[in-house]
Amino acid sequence: MRRIQRLKLPSPTQKAIDRKQADADLKRVAGELNVDAEWKSARRTKPLKTALGVLQTMAGNRQRCMYCGDSHGNDIEHFWPKQQHPERMFRWPNLLLCCTECGRFKGKTLPLENGVPLLVDPTAEDPWQFLDFDPATGNIVARFDLAANDWTAKGTKTVEVLHLDCREAFAAGNQLTHRRVKSLVESALQQPAIDSDALMTALREADDHGLLGWYFSGTGQSIEPFARLRQEHAEVWQACLQSLI
Ligand SMILES: [Zn+2]
Repeated sequence: MRRIQRLKLPSPTQKAIDRKQADADLKRVAGELNVDAEWKSARRTKPLKTALGVLQTMAGNRQRCMYCGDSHGNDIEHFWPKQQHPERMFRWPNLLLCCTECGRFKGKTLPLENGVPLLVDPTAEDPWQFLDFDPATGNIVARFDLAANDWTAKGTKTVEVLHLDCREAFAAGNQLTHRRVKSLVESALQQPAIDSDALMTALREADDHGLLGWYFSGTGQSIEPFARLRQEHAEVWQACLQSLI
């Protein structure tokens, strides 16, 4: 899962979806809101098509799903499900890009604890604070929080809801990306000097599954060859880290 910077919507689009939310709120108060019908009809309009285009831009060239980072993201997803939270149906921060499989797994659920979501929102936080990658299996698992001496609750629920530790093709894709990224860093370490811009460009190109954050801000920084890059080329490491934020 990669950290995603949320872009701004063009101003007319933002105003248009704000109006749609205001209309939906009025209907809800009057007891006349049919959430599915309201969304279906809005989805065909230009503002929502523009919003989908901005989400695809945010997801990067390959327009991958923002949850798994593996399959093509083909539809707008409501982080807070629209049926239970119609007051967020047209709220821009609530809209993500998602693949069919993740959409099916998540369904209409959003696990909460004291009203706070126990699901990683990659547009709002660094997923690798809660998640870990297991190179041996290719699975994404919950991150162990040493201070709390437990796996992070948000990571545990995210893995459970999206089945991130039991999707075969997804795991195989992660492992392939891992091998590519590792071999780029190994080659760079054999050079007399490392050009951090060139390395980062190559790493981004190879990072098909959004694992870069795991190497630079997650637990991946302690495995080889990344640990060596961090220890022996601190300035390259910092430059790579900065370019990911
Ligand atoms: Zn997905």
